[in-house]
Amino acid sequence: MKFLFDLDGTVTRQETLPIISGHFGCNEQIAELTTRTVAGNIPFIESFIRRVNILGRYSVRETNELLSGVSLYPAIAEFIAAHKEDCVIVTGNLTCWCEGLFNKIGCQCYGSEAEVVDDKVVKIKSILRKEQIVDLYKALGETVVFIGDGNNDLEAMRHANISIAAGLTHNPAQSLMSICDYVIYNEKALVRQMRQLCGEYGDSKSVVISCAGIGSRLGLGLTKALVQINGNSLISWQLKLFESVEDVRLVIGFQGGEIIEEVRKYRDDVIFCFNHRYFETKTGASYYLGARHANPETLEWDGDLLVHPDDVKMLLDTPGEFICYGDITSDDTVCVHVDEKGNVLDFSREGGDYEWTGPACMDKKHLIYCSQNVYNMFEPLCPMRGIKVRAYDIDTYNDYVRVSEITKDWTI
Ligand SMILES: [Mg+2]
Repeated sequence: MKFLFDLDGTVTRQETLPIISGHFGCNEQIAELTTRTVAGNIPFIESFIRRVNILGRYSVRETNELLSGVSLYPAIAEFIAAHKEDCVIVTGNLTCWCEGLFNKIGCQCYGSEAEVVDDKVVKIKSILRKEQIVDLYKALGETVVFIGDGNNDLEAMRHANISIAAGLTHNPAQSLMSICDYVIYNEKALVRQMRQLCGEYGDSKSVVISCAGIGSRLGLGLTKALVQINGNSLISWQLKLFESVEDVRLVIGFQGGEIIEEVRKYRDDVIFCFNHRYFETKTGASYYLGARHANPETLEWDGDLLVHPDDVKMLLDTPGEFICYGDITSDDTVCVHVDEKGNVLDFSREGGDYEWTGPACMDKKHLIYCSQNVYNMFEPLCPMRGIKVRAYDIDTYNDYVRVSEITKDWTI
C-alpha cells in the first residue's frame, strides 16, 4: 500500500505560495489566485503558470530556505517518518522551491520542474499531474491511498484505490465530496484512519453509524440523523451515547453536507465515510463501507435507532460478535427466532420470537459487500449470539412520536 499526499494544506499547516508572496511583498495577487484555484474556479495549470510568472522572479535560494521552515502537521509528519517507504508527496509546486521542505519530510517527493538561471525561474519545464503518479504506483501493483484537499487533487483521488479528503487547513474543495471515500477534519482522526489502513488497529471497537438514507418513510423531508428529538438532532443523541468511543465512523449520503455540519458542532474527530450510491443500496452497503477500514470489531448502528443508554454501555463493553433484538413493537418488521440460550437462529418477515432491531457487532473477517439490508449479511452466519436490548427504531411518523416520549426521561 502507498500513501500519496498532497503537500499544501494537507501535510503543511499553511498553503506555501502565500508564504512566498508574503515574504516578497506580492500578497494580494497571489492570495486571490490561490483562493480561486483551491475552490476550483480557475484551472490549476493556468493558475500555476500565472503564479510562477509572479513568484519566479524572486530568489530561488531564498524561497527554498523560506519553505524549509514551513510547519507541518506533527502527527502526519510522524506517520510519514514511521512509514517512509510507503509514503509519497505529490505536489504541483516547483521542486526547486521545495527541496529543503522535501528533505525535512524525508520521503519520496514529486513536484513540477523548472529551469533556474542566476537563481531565478526562467522557464517551467513540466507541471506535475498527480494522477500520473497514482497510475505509476498502481501499475506496480500497489493499492494507492490518496490524501488531498484541493480541486487539483480531484483526478488523483478519482484514480486512487482509496481517497481521503482532508479538511485540516480549510474545508476540502466541494468537487472532492462527490468522489472521495472519506472526509476527515481532524489530524488525529486522519492518522488513525491511515494506521487502520496499515493494519495498525486501536484496541477498542469502532462504531459505524449509517446515516446515508433519505428517510422517505418518515415523511419529514429530512434524512433521519437531522430529525429533532426533544430539541436535539437524532445524531447528536447518538454522539452523546458514543462519547467514550475513539473511532466513531459516520456513513453519509443524502444531505451529507448538513450532517457533517451538525456533527462537527459536537466533535471534530468523526471519520465520515461516503456511500455515494445511497439511493440504490441499503444499510448493508453503508455498513460495509463504514467498517471495511475500521478496527477489527465494529458495532453496526442504524442512524435511525435509539437504544437505552445503559444498554449502549453494556454493548460497548461486550466483546465478540453478537446480534441485538428487542420486544416486537411494530407489524411491518423483520423478526428473529431465538433458541433457549438466546442465540439467533434465523431472520423472518413472517413473525418470530423478537424483533430484529440492531445493533450488531461483527468481526471484519465476516464482512462482505452487500447492497441489501444489514440482516442479509448476517443470515449466512446464523446461529449467532443474541443480546436483548431496549431499542427504538424511527421508521414512521408514529415511531417518531413514540421515541420522543420515551427519551424524555433519559439522562445521558
Ligand atoms: Mg492542498
